Amino acid sequence: MRRTTTWTIALVTSLAVSGATGTAVAAAATSPQLQTQTQDRSAFVAADGHTYDYASGTTSDPRAAGQVAKIRTLLPADWRSRQAAALARFGVEPSAAQDALGRAIDPTHYQCAPTRLDAFVDGVLADIDPSSLFVLSMLGGFDFPTYDALLFGSTDDPAYALTKDSRNELTSSFRAAQKFWDTDGTDIQLMAMHGDVMRDPARLARLIGVLYGVDDTRAAQLAALVVDVVTTDPGLARGDSPIFTLNAFAFSGQGDPDPVISSLPDKLVFGDGMLDALGAIGVGDVGPRAVLGHEYGHHVQYDKNLFASPLTGPEATRRTELMADAFGTYFVTHKRGLALNTKRVLEAEQSFYQVGDCAFTNAGHHGTPNQRLRASTWGASVAADAQKQGQVMPSLTLDSRFESALPQFVAPDA
Ligand SMILES: [Zn+2]
Repeated sequence: MRRTTTWTIALVTSLAVSGATGTAVAAAATSPQLQTQTQDRSAFVAADGHTYDYASGTTSDPRAAGQVAKIRTLLPADWRSRQAAALARFGVEPSAAQDALGRAIDPTHYQCAPTRLDAFVDGVLADIDPSSLFVLSMLGGFDFPTYDALLFGSTDDPAYALTKDSRNELTSSFRAAQKFWDTDGTDIQLMAMHGDVMRDPARLARLIGVLYGVDDTRAAQLAALVVDVVTTDPGLARGDSPIFTLNAFAFSGQGDPDPVISSLPDKLVFGDGMLDALGAIGVGDVGPRAVLGHEYGHHVQYDKNLFASPLTGPEATRRTELMADAFGTYFVTHKRGLALNTKRVLEAEQSFYQVGDCAFTNAGHHGTPNQRLRASTWGASVAADAQKQGQVMPSLTLDSRFESALPQFVAPDA
């Protein structure tokens, strides 16, 4: 796993729908039988009566149907598999938006109780025209800012500069993490991810060309279509809707067999929409630093090779996510780290762990809210013990303690 999504909203939802809007579509579109076999509801009926079928890519909305038809003429026939290959190549999980959309289409995808964060995402989605959601989703557009930051983002480029409101806090916390851990984090680039790429024809064309392998002319036409959708739907706020950037992630391409990926610098990317969401659910005070601590924890894992374990699938992801929760909380509460108030940090973490990730079988499973809170509480208590001696534990020592404690975090909810 190279890229990790932290607080993916509503991971609850829908591997099924993500699949339906992703790789499964090509098959479904050519085979009506497959559609009828789909157990999950994939068609969304809008208030105006128009139907949007995400599995088949068909809609009764004439404008959206025209746009999807145009997309199909511009993309190569195998574009779905190219999209899937790109996803696999970069290790990118379905976006928060895609997941939330799955839930909007089929409310039974709630596997945990709805939370404040869900309410925030639902509110954002409610502002967006179903037609825009459909067209952008068909093109994988909700992942564009993520891919753009991954492929082209750089800490020196003003297009990826942190926002004025978050810059000082995130930058100083990031520097503190670089000093705190016994790993070499000097090569990690800290940057933002903004939605403005969604209204920028040149940057979109560059990205679409790479993602779908289309020539410059077609990439420019597809980019123009995206800009048209994004700038004509007020709910998308010209790309500034949080839906495009509701994410924070750590990336390292080191050692990857793909030269394009291994040539990319290590990154810690913070989406504007994530900052919006943390503020909206009332944890704007310590939430961003807790997220940064978690993401930096993944970089410690990259550096010390801690992703490797005998576990596989969802259990493997859960282990590394719970470790990032524990390491992150250790850092943000430790006196020689950020020295944040432990009680407040755990309160804040509890509210965003309530993203309701009860998707036990999802490969992106982060752990249940209770498991995550136990891992964080443990990290804080180790920090409290360590700081009496004024010490920062070597990361490998912290890891071996974590591995011993892991079964206790997991057991009650496993
Ligand atoms: Zn994570």
